[in-house]
Amino acid sequence: MKIIMLGAPGAGKGTQAKMIADKYGIPHISTGDIFRANIKNGTELGKKAKTYMDQGLLVPDELVVDLVADRVVQDDCKNGYVLDGFPRTIPQAEALDAALGKMGAKIDFAIDVDVPDENIITRMSGRRACVACGATYHIVNIPTKVEGICDRCGAELILRDDDKPETVKKRLAVYHEQTQPLIDYYTKQGCLVDVDGTQDMADVFAAIVKILGA
Ligand code: ADP
Ligand code: ADP
Ligand code: ZN
Repeated sequence: MKIIMLGAPGAGKGTQAKMIADKYGIPHISTGDIFRANIKNGTELGKKAKTYMDQGLLVPDELVVDLVADRVVQDDCKNGYVLDGFPRTIPQAEALDAALGKMGAKIDFAIDVDVPDENIITRMSGRRACVACGATYHIVNIPTKVEGICDRCGAELILRDDDKPETVKKRLAVYHEQTQPLIDYYTKQGCLVDVDGTQDMADVFAAIVKILGA
């Protein structure tokens, strides 16, 4: 099963993608996580990506397309995967379709996690992320057992640099301009499904499972 998560920054794509990956036994591929790992390790890619991410801008397509094309042909992807944060532009979606087409494959579901802009700022300012394992929490909505410590792996949690309100506003504008057109793109392909992302995390997941099948 090949799945794409669509939705604004902070809509809950990552949260749901991890639950999908666990339930269906497929890898969760987050381009944001890949960039953050590269930044942490001080790679050339990380250095380039950081200048864009810090401003709330998208990393240029050419820095992300090959990365994903190489990732989805790896062995653990043969039964499918859940892509989180990719594609984010029409050219990225076209490049993905071209890469899949060569293998006679296609996307099964593009899941749009729908959350209005008003809810996003609160979600983002309360988001805490684990730099070690990628788990995400929320100080009010999804708290950890011990404040500031990851439930899954025990590492320390951080507030992401790009989750400051000013940067979030920029990211939302970028989302509407560059990423939202993908909703039309996948609607035309016949694989778009929509879930109400304002519900509790468990209810959002139940809606997704209903679509994907148990
Ligand atoms: P969120 O989950 O909050 O939407 P991500 O972790 O997916 O954020 O991405 C963080 C940042 O990484 C983005 O704001 C963007 O700068 C960069 N990024 C991630 N994925 C892509 C992509 N597919 N294309 C361009 N930039 C990306
Ligand atoms: P995205 O990957 O789309 O940027 P995340 O999955 O990181 O979004 O979620 C953004 C923030 O909102 C996180 O702090 C997360 O814990 C919280 N969150 C996720 N899903 C829900 C939900 N259904 N209700 C309330 N808060 C949520
Ligand atoms: Zn962790």
